[in-house]
Amino acid sequence: MVVAFKGATLIDGTGKAPVKDALVMIDENLVTYAGPSGIKEVPEKAEIININGKTIIPGLIDAHIHLDMHGMADTFEENLVEDKLRTVRAAREMHKTLLAGITTVRNCGSVNYIDIAVKEAIAAGWCEGPRILASGKIISMTAAGNEYFLGMYREADGCDEVRKAAREQLKVGADFLKLMATGAYMNPGGVPGASQLNRDEMAVVVEEAAKLGLRVAAHAHGKQGIIDAIEAGVATIEHGTFLDDDVIELMIKRDIFLVPTYIVGYLMKENGEENGVPEFMLEKSRKTEKVWQENLRRAIDAGVLVAFGTDAGTNYNYHGNNALELVILVEEGFMTPLQAISSGTKVSAEALGLSSEIGTLEENKIADLVVVGGSLENKLRPLLDNVDMVYQGGKRVR
Ligand SMILES: [Zn+2]
Repeated sequence: MVVAFKGATLIDGTGKAPVKDALVMIDENLVTYAGPSGIKEVPEKAEIININGKTIIPGLIDAHIHLDMHGMADTFEENLVEDKLRTVRAAREMHKTLLAGITTVRNCGSVNYIDIAVKEAIAAGWCEGPRILASGKIISMTAAGNEYFLGMYREADGCDEVRKAAREQLKVGADFLKLMATGAYMNPGGVPGASQLNRDEMAVVVEEAAKLGLRVAAHAHGKQGIIDAIEAGVATIEHGTFLDDDVIELMIKRDIFLVPTYIVGYLMKENGEENGVPEFMLEKSRKTEKVWQENLRRAIDAGVLVAFGTDAGTNYNYHGNNALELVILVEEGFMTPLQAISSGTKVSAEALGLSSEIGTLEENKIADLVVVGGSLENKLRPLLDNVDMVYQGGKRVR
């Protein structure tokens, strides 16, 4: 049965100017039309939904979350919740995420394969949530601070061990692989600028994923680590803090996606030590805040493909609040609202290798869409506090 959404402003995700008084039609799970009204006829039996004064956009795609983490002030305390309970909680968090208009997520590392379990439960219809791409455990070299996230890292050193680690994730059903190219802010003793897995080790991970047509995401802050990851063949650079003009050039040349997860630092700073964020995280974050902002601005202005990722689950970074990343990128002048919406839809779909199916409201795409009260032309706050309807695969879920 055809559902016709009439009268809203359409922002289709492609980056094209918004269309006023638009018509969007879906039939079963697919979009059959999205554009100006008066061009395509609405079938007589269609269900008509009048949404004058509202805005309709594609379902958002968060390319970087951790579904089994809960936004605790000190991430170490996540370890104190037992895995089975965490799994149930994660399923609930994913429902919240879906209700917020996030119809697809890429989970960049979970404890003891909780991500795979939740993905399968949603796919089986036991609970509702976004479409999930799961990595399983994060492949890391033996490194200081990994114990801060018990069960989230698969430590491996040398090409043979790394190959085994990659195959283990694929065996349990990973949809992509995640690796550590450099140290991390959130691991005590982790040095964000320092390289971790070397180029050959990362190339092995890419090789194993590629056998199944799958991609690799690299956690990478330091310049050399970013370059090594790109040369090894990864598809996305997570965070990218110390990228410079050389890296920008390389990323553009190779169509590499940057997933900045800007709000991680923003929320840590906003909440601070007084609210229990560990001092070692704040200290590292303070030291590089300015550089990071400048580099991100430069990358966006130069035309690096920037996907939407939140690192939801980290300190005060709650599931369902994902759109805050886009809101803040706009409010701090990194992107225009239209750019941010494309980043959160089309560009993220491309980063995940799903752009033939999702990411824009165009004919024959999967009918994932969000109706928001009010306008998104000047600010994106309504994505946080005024989501009206959510459709996923043509089915109304909110
Ligand atoms: Zn992360």
